[in-house]
Amino acid sequence: MHQLTIAEIIRGLRDKQFSSVEITSHLLERIQELDNQFNSFITVTGDQAIKEAAAADARLAQGDAPALCGVPIAHKDIFCTSGVRTSCGSKMLDNFVPPYDATVVDNFQQAGAVSLGKTNMDEFAMGSSNESSFYGAVKNPWNVERIPGGSSGGSAAAVAALLVPGTTATDTGGSIRQPAAMTGTTGLKPTYGRVSRWGMIAFASSLDQGGPITRTAEDAALMLSVMASPDKKDSTCLDRPTQDYTANLNDSIKGLKIGVPSEYFGEGLDSEVGARVQEALKDYEKLGAELVEISLPHSKLAVPAYYVIAPAEASANLSRFDGVRYGYRCENPADLRDLYMRSRGEGFGEEVKRRILVGSYALSAGYYDAYYNKAQQVRRLIKQDFVDAFDKVDVIMGPTAPNPAFKLGEKNADPVAMYLEDIYTIATNLAGLPGMSIPCGFAHGLPVGLQIIGNYLDEARMLNVAHQFQQASDWHQKTAPAAE
Ligand code: GLN
Repeated sequence: MHQLTIAEIIRGLRDKQFSSVEITSHLLERIQELDNQFNSFITVTGDQAIKEAAAADARLAQGDAPALCGVPIAHKDIFCTSGVRTSCGSKMLDNFVPPYDATVVDNFQQAGAVSLGKTNMDEFAMGSSNESSFYGAVKNPWNVERIPGGSSGGSAAAVAALLVPGTTATDTGGSIRQPAAMTGTTGLKPTYGRVSRWGMIAFASSLDQGGPITRTAEDAALMLSVMASPDKKDSTCLDRPTQDYTANLNDSIKGLKIGVPSEYFGEGLDSEVGARVQEALKDYEKLGAELVEISLPHSKLAVPAYYVIAPAEASANLSRFDGVRYGYRCENPADLRDLYMRSRGEGFGEEVKRRILVGSYALSAGYYDAYYNKAQQVRRLIKQDFVDAFDKVDVIMGPTAPNPAFKLGEKNADPVAMYLEDIYTIATNLAGLPGMSIPCGFAHGLPVGLQIIGNYLDEARMLNVAHQFQQASDWHQKTAPAAE
């Protein structure tokens, strides 16, 4: 049963091949049995899941069941869940039990989905390896000595290990797409503002965006149809009606123009990864698409601009964790200053502190113009590169990450090496564009991701393009050995 995709589960439930309680219990047992190897969950809400599944079965029997009624999913532990601890991977929020649900969580509840629990992540979504979590590193189901990517490493590993067919995740600079690439799963970051950020713990508010991780593009479309909605509670959420993202999956892609940026195939790209991506592009040609060489000339400025803007926003967002209102508080503070200093000093991990220091510096008087303003100007140029490219092409493709999953600990001593993991994904966030990663083969025995970047609000086409590839290939059906 754990092999089933979301689309298959929906059919199976409606045809009464199994009940939601049956599949939910089966997956909970698998989590219990296998997840000590991967550490992909921080919290498993077994009793609540069974109750939700029973309620879903009752609705299915009545015949008025909503879209995802009875389908098991899990949420990244960055989305607030009423009555269920929401840690954001940090000691700071280890004891935080929100009194409300994030809009995304609420949307899935309204659609009848059953939540199995909360998935592991890098602390405050800062990282590319899921090693900065207070709850310990997540291991890649393809090789447990390797990282699953980050920051949504738990969401990706849980799907790759067949513990759950779909998870929610977030992407500020690549955190949905890079872990999807590393684990052989399908991940989608929507256009900025397509999915509500209300109740999603903020890292860098102008970049953060929620999206799904699944095994197929069809499942990503099913999840996105529920996840993306207008939301008055988030002023940056686009006022667009909900949409059925499965509607265009079967459209022909004959004549599709695929932009291939030369900058995405240069130095730093593992040659085997590059070869797999080139092969995938050839497969697209066979499907009737046309490859167009393009240039995104400001690509190399994306990582430096991001590492000014994201920490600047993070330093402001994280100032709310002061040990006073909620979250971690140090023992026996001597006075208010000591309370702030030790609560933050003890509650935050090393990478989070590094970001706060960098961000506060970039925003300080005297440096603001030199760093923050300059980075914003560069951001504008990066966006313009894409606007120009989309005059000529329908989608853009390249690698998701420069290398397959690396060894645990390999990049910990070198933050810049870790930051370069997102060299092909970050520009999309700076521009606010949607992006996906789908499996396209193996390099050094590990999964490789093909990145598909779409124009603004063109998620339906991106999904169509991904689905057509998955109809013609079986990379997405390969299973990690540890998931057997
Ligand atoms: N790896 C990037 C960072 O550490 C992106 C993280 C993310 O997308 N949340 O900031």
